[in-house]
Amino acid sequence: MAETEHFDVVVIGGGSGLTAAYYADEAGKSVALVERWTDRLGGTCVNVGCIPSKQLIQSAEVMKTIRAADDFGITLDQSSVKVDMPAIFRAMRERRSKANEGTQGWVEDAFTPVFDEVRFVDEKTLETKDGKRTITGDKFFLAVGARAAIPPIDGLDKIPYRTNADIFDIKGQPKSLVILGGGYIGCEFGHFFSTLGTKVTIIDPSDHLLSEDDDIRTTFTKEFAKKVDLVTPYRAVAAVEEEGQYGFKVRKEDGDETRTVVGDMVLVATGRRPNTDTLDLDKTSVKTDDKGWVQVDDHMRTSHPDIYAYGDCIGQGMFKHTSSFEGEIAYRNAFGADLKMDYSANPHAIFSDPQIGAVGLTERECQEKGLDYKAVKRDYKDIAKGEIIGKPPGFAKLLVEKGTRRILGFHMLGPHAADLVHEVVVAMTAEGAKADLIKRSIHIHPTMPELIHTLFTEAVGSPYSDA
Ligand SMILES: Cc1cc2nc3c(=O)[nH]c(=O)nc-3n(C[C@H](O)[C@H](O)[C@H](O)COP(=O)(O)OP(=O)(O)OC[C@H]3O[C@@H](n4cnc5c(N)ncnc54)[C@H](O)[C@@H]3O)c2cc1C
Repeated sequence: MAETEHFDVVVIGGGSGLTAAYYADEAGKSVALVERWTDRLGGTCVNVGCIPSKQLIQSAEVMKTIRAADDFGITLDQSSVKVDMPAIFRAMRERRSKANEGTQGWVEDAFTPVFDEVRFVDEKTLETKDGKRTITGDKFFLAVGARAAIPPIDGLDKIPYRTNADIFDIKGQPKSLVILGGGYIGCEFGHFFSTLGTKVTIIDPSDHLLSEDDDIRTTFTKEFAKKVDLVTPYRAVAAVEEEGQYGFKVRKEDGDETRTVVGDMVLVATGRRPNTDTLDLDKTSVKTDDKGWVQVDDHMRTSHPDIYAYGDCIGQGMFKHTSSFEGEIAYRNAFGADLKMDYSANPHAIFSDPQIGAVGLTERECQEKGLDYKAVKRDYKDIAKGEIIGKPPGFAKLLVEKGTRRILGFHMLGPHAADLVHEVVVAMTAEGAKADLIKRSIHIHPTMPELIHTLFTEAVGSPYSDA
């Protein structure tokens, strides 16, 4: 019989779980930090998500600059440019190891780490998979994340395919890659591989890729189609092998037409499913929906008063920054605060080509909510810096509520969109979220944020017009 260990706080999940654990440790509480990946802390983001993918994409961005050199008077022999894929992957793994090591040291110093999978045996008792440890706690935080959802496609289990869990382990560069799914994961890997010379095909049942504002989706899809083959709107109906290559038989969404798409490698990127099936939550009163996402209220409370949940396992936001933010709200509420999680200014980015940064409502959502809004759009080429950097395709789009001048949504497609969106996030987080805040702020000339300033000026006019 395993000895029972009791803690003030038990956190399950060594990704964004670290946020609640951090605040608990700061408050002097005893903390068990449970993580089933014995050799890697940091969760999806550090190991098989944000960090390794962005490290890879950095090489693609360097390649884009090299390819554009001629436009800026730098001549080089493009045929001499070589891609050293093993070196690119080595740099990615080094970055990941450094992050792992840093976190490992901190976790061992601050908490009681439990490196095993755990499941509930009753409302507030966990058992490790090896059966050696029983853990109880006063407060629990579930941050068990999500993993790739594998669609039920005939024959998929008979062909080799990769997901985000093992694409980072590949040894060489595939000549061709078939990506199933045109969401952000498919589009980011599509950018990386295609920019570095792999022939990429993306299959998606929708005409346009990504779930973004319609203007963004349309322009993104048009631009991205210049570098990847899009098989849209097609649905994969069976996995196939043809002469040593793998892929799918696909059927057109609005008809019976079928075709076959194959490549050297297949990546499945068709959404995420929660890891809650590991937890035996049916031993507790914590409710999940029929897909397994933990049900929480706007205080991150589950249906058990001492069990909170956040991060990907609740199925909202599903970004690293959102998960960490939710973690603090969950922790503070568990210990007496009364904080609501507000997603209205929760931004996201897609590090594809073109890049996307967005926050708030899409135009379609404004319409569905019956809001009286004004939409304004400006292109990169409309500002001096946009001209200087070569007039890249792309634009910024703002949605402002008429009358209140409240910022409802902001969507940007083009260079540095992921960085530029933050100015709008700050304005949306400020009291009243008024568009005037940005219009009244002096912006440096010539810079990219001038595009945002120009847009806001167009939306709200001069702040001195009534003077
Ligand atoms: C390819 C890819 C790229 C991404 N890029 C970005 C990006 O650029 N920016 C961004 O914001 N987000 C990005 N994301 C999303 C981001 O990684 C996630 O939103 C974030 O990591 C979720 O954190 P989490 O703590 O909820 O879950 P996770 O980080 O998945 O952590 C959950 C942890 O719980 C552990 N666990 C699960 N069950 C148990 C159990 N029973 N016992 C013990 N341990 C358990 C798991 O091993 C895991 O380590 C990306 C995701 C992917 C897949």
